[in-house]
Amino acid sequence: MKITRVTSHVLQYDLPEELGYSQQFYARRTAHLVEVETDEGVTGWGECFGPGNVALANKGIVERVIQPMVIGDDPMDRDVTWHKVYNLLRDHGQKGMPLQALSGVDIALWDIAGKVAGLPLHKLIGGAHRTRVPAYGYGMMLKRESLEDHIARFADEAAGILGMGFRSVKMKVGLGPKADVKLCEAVAAAVAGRGRFMVDANRCYTTSDAFHVGRALEELGAYWFEEPVAPEDLDGYRELRTGLKVNISGGEAEFNRWGWRQILENRGLDIAQPEVCALGGISEYLRVLALAHAHFTPVVNHVWGSAIAVATNLQLLAAMPAMPGGLNPCEPMLEFDTTHNAFRDELLSEPLNIQDQVKSGNGYVNVPDRPGLGVEPDAEFVRHYEVAC
Ligand code: CA
Repeated sequence: MKITRVTSHVLQYDLPEELGYSQQFYARRTAHLVEVETDEGVTGWGECFGPGNVALANKGIVERVIQPMVIGDDPMDRDVTWHKVYNLLRDHGQKGMPLQALSGVDIALWDIAGKVAGLPLHKLIGGAHRTRVPAYGYGMMLKRESLEDHIARFADEAAGILGMGFRSVKMKVGLGPKADVKLCEAVAAAVAGRGRFMVDANRCYTTSDAFHVGRALEELGAYWFEEPVAPEDLDGYRELRTGLKVNISGGEAEFNRWGWRQILENRGLDIAQPEVCALGGISEYLRVLALAHAHFTPVVNHVWGSAIAVATNLQLLAAMPAMPGGLNPCEPMLEFDTTHNAFRDELLSEPLNIQDQVKSGNGYVNVPDRPGLGVEPDAEFVRHYEVAC
């Protein structure tokens, strides 16, 4: 069996309203899908992390840099292919876009392997530790509006996300430490007695500002404080984890086993959030997961993108052993974006209907059990939203 073609599909549409987090506002939704074809008619799908023009640049890496390296490879030799591509790209980026591009190709090769074996991805990895996964709902994005309007909207949205059936909600911050504490107070009050809340700073604080917000989060009972400081600030992470009672989470901007080794040995995270569509795909994710568990650090995957990324993560979450195990172990959750995303809701020929499942399943989502990722994109939909370039 041979790989015959690798194609990137960058999909895009204008959001009904602009959304923001602590670094920027964005008005377009992007998804970057990778399609790997073989001489035996089996096709695999993957996804690369990276919005907007980053996706377009990654398309160039996938099609013009990686594709020529892998044409003719046996798609079942995915680990051999991974190391060949990584070694050839090592001089040009051991992190960042080359790894994002490789991730989409690697995920597609795992999809092919599952389809060839007739097994869902979780079985290929070693089996399902759970057949359904609790999802948490994130929303509460920043807008160009006053603090008062943010407070009122976040309180409404937090209640709305719980009303959808999610048991945990995640909010953005980034208006400044004092204003952010007010926002967190509003959300804590809105979910009190009904669910948990988590706070995502998208690395906007200095360590001292993060301590200010983190101390408030301890009092308010937040479950985790995500990316409080820049990912390069390992000392900041370690100081925050030592000094605060709230769980410190992060890692979505880290790549491959060597990057993760540094983070984990630094002991700055209570919860690791690897991004499979960026860090190097499923092959590398499994090594990062083993490394995290070797440091007794629980993992809750970072999830961003289309239904392909959601399905990939559902498979990985099913196959993840509990850490550290027990009758009532600490269980992973599926991160689920509740804001407008047609690529998550309408991409598949048979939709996952996550929101319906969350509503009827008391916050839980079933793991797809068809071969590979267990889902297929609708070709017509892909054609309709694909950016010409
Ligand atoms: Ca995040």
